[in-house]
Amino acid sequence: MQPIPTLSLPSGERVPVLGQGTWTMGESRRSRREEAEALRLGLDLGMTLIDTAEMYADGGAEEVVAEAIAGRRDEVFLVSKVLPGNASRRGTIEACERSLRRLRTDRIDLYLLHWRGRHPLAETLEAFAELVRAGKIRYWGVSNFDTDDMEELTGLPGGAAVATNQVLYNLSRRGIEYDLLPWCRERRIPIMAYSPIEQGRILENTVLRRVAARHGATPAQVALAWLLRQKDVMVIPKAGRPEHVRENRAALDLELTAEDLAELDRAFPSPTRKVPLEML
Ligand code: NDP
Repeated sequence: MQPIPTLSLPSGERVPVLGQGTWTMGESRRSRREEAEALRLGLDLGMTLIDTAEMYADGGAEEVVAEAIAGRRDEVFLVSKVLPGNASRRGTIEACERSLRRLRTDRIDLYLLHWRGRHPLAETLEAFAELVRAGKIRYWGVSNFDTDDMEELTGLPGGAAVATNQVLYNLSRRGIEYDLLPWCRERRIPIMAYSPIEQGRILENTVLRRVAARHGATPAQVALAWLLRQKDVMVIPKAGRPEHVRENRAALDLELTAEDLAELDRAFPSPTRKVPLEML
């Protein structure tokens, strides 16, 4: 098995392009063990970037992650997020400390503002800077920021250090290709694509199924390979079932042809004008 390709964060640190999401994990006590096992299997397969958030299951997802990474923290590039309602200067620091306790670790590798809220961005940035100084987070970034939000952010003191923008991006949600993706590319800010298989809703699509059948692959693998062909996009599917974890990992071996891409473009066209950033 080939190692998972990596991309460079603005700091120069390399992270795997394929990671694991955790939304809806930790919601039921009964399934927590299986969820942690699925994440551990993903780690064994090299998907060492794990994305979580204080929001998911009210901290429950972070507890599942803690179980998954126990004893192997150094293998993992850990991403978590602060809720906008907590993102004041003091609130961000306290939220981070609560996340660290739930994650049972001393540091988060990348800490994101989950989406924009009422607290001034400048305050959140000050808190991020303080958390970096204290060694509690290594990098910070944002999520669900459209191009105008990114402009505003990078104009603030320290704002240019943003490590990523995590956004909704998949075959059926190509809005960012019009302006946000090129904007980030120009500045070498990698995008992290969330809901890469549209939470399963695109998997019945006829074209996706036809392309998949041509390769002896699954529609989910085609959807992931379509994102992964862009070398500067990180992709974080969530999989609670081991067979899904293995399938997603194997999407890296699938190379789409020019014919596949053209067919997918016809079924899922790229936007020809600005589409406001969608979020789930
Ligand atoms: P995904 O597009 O990753 O879809 C997850 C769903 O697809 C689950 O039901 C999973 O099932 C199923 N699935 C996974 N792999 C396969 C496969 N190979 N074949 C068929 N079904 C499959 O949606 P998410 O919304 O979970 O997005 C991924 C991650 O992105 C989240 O978990 C979260 O970490 C992050 N996110 C961030 C947001 C933000 O605002 N910043 C918003 C939304 C997501 P099963 O679990 O049973 O294996």
